Amino acid sequence: MLSAAELLQELLDRARPLDETETIGLADARNRILAEGLTSYVSVPPMDNTAMDGYAVRSHDCKLPDATLKVTQRIAAGQVGRQLHKGEAARIFTGAPVPPGADAIVMQEDTSLEGEMVTVYKVPHPGDHIRRAGEDIQPGSSVLTPGTRLKGPELGLAASIGRTEAKVFRQLRVAMFSTGDELAEPGRPLKPGQIYNSNRATLKSLLTGLGVEIVDLGVVADTRDATIKAIESAMRLADVILTTGGVSVGEEDHVKAAVEELGHIDIWKVAMKPGKPVVYGRVGDADFIGLPGNPVSAFVTFCLFARPFLLKRMGANQTLYRAYPVRAAFDWSKPGKRREFLRGHVVKGRDGVGEVRLYPNQSSGVLTSAVWADGLVDIEIGQTVICGESVRFIPFSELVD
Ligand code: AMP
Ligand code: MG
Repeated sequence: MLSAAELLQELLDRARPLDETETIGLADARNRILAEGLTSYVSVPPMDNTAMDGYAVRSHDCKLPDATLKVTQRIAAGQVGRQLHKGEAARIFTGAPVPPGADAIVMQEDTSLEGEMVTVYKVPHPGDHIRRAGEDIQPGSSVLTPGTRLKGPELGLAASIGRTEAKVFRQLRVAMFSTGDELAEPGRPLKPGQIYNSNRATLKSLLTGLGVEIVDLGVVADTRDATIKAIESAMRLADVILTTGGVSVGEEDHVKAAVEELGHIDIWKVAMKPGKPVVYGRVGDADFIGLPGNPVSAFVTFCLFARPFLLKRMGANQTLYRAYPVRAAFDWSKPGKRREFLRGHVVKGRDGVGEVRLYPNQSSGVLTSAVWADGLVDIEIGQTVICGESVRFIPFSELVD
């Protein structure tokens, strides 16, 4: 059995980044991965401009408090001022270019205006409240590197240098299906022995958040033939096949045998809870990832293993999640034989510092725990915890989207 860390490494070693690219409009590029870095041709900001509403002045004119200057121009954002001469001030508004001759901005709050004369109470220093041309981005500088996943700030930065398009990797195609004869689709009444298919909704949402193209093959019956047929069509349609259920060792678990029939399996067990059976194999040119059927196990193993694999496969250079130390508000006295990823929720402790609590029912079928939680508490094999000690916490913000 692999450790969770070994499994992750083995998966990342096998994830072949896409090489096909396309040039697309940035308006539709959310979650896509840059295949080519972006270099700026412009300065951001393009010109020296004011960070405050107030007056543009020559600091030489205001060496003492209460200097009085004549207001000779008004410059709003989007306008351009004229040369500022000795003894003059320009009324100026945030974002407006600093006029030639001025070397400082005085905040409106530090002045008073009477007619066309402004009194400056505070002595300004050269450069005060001026945002310099190029202080964010210089022409010729690289602003985003290949492998960057485009999210809000990245798309904003690309827009700030005037870009409308970027070269990105094509979308990864992921085929998914759930196995289980007991599964009923939401919206229909449950027959005896059935349960609703929740993994399909969970995985679909997680995959959508990642920005892959989803081929949803629905539910596949618990037979060898049906599983083989489903994998055969999935391997023709997708780069990666993702399934849930049917990967244990029971007679009703056909996924492993079907993958072995069509290709090969490299990995199939990991020493963790929730989880244990996680299959990685190859069928034709497609990767196969089989996650366990229990809803929490499927969710957790997707986040910890499938997601980093898919991100690397998509061409992203940042694939790993980060964990942070958080104070435990619980005892964990029984050392385990498998690494545990417990559903935890961070609250403010009595001293105002954050501490993590555990959902009382950590069973791998209790999806409520994942909704209640805002991350996973990572307990190593053999680790015990005394309330107040620090534990590793992986926030869902590192694992979802
Ligand atoms: P399996 O891995 O197929 O042995 O399934 C383990 C447990 O997870 C069983 O109790 C299944 O009923 C349940 N399960 C499997 N797939 C799903 C699913 N798509 N939605 C909800 N529960 C599931
Ligand atoms: Mg099953």
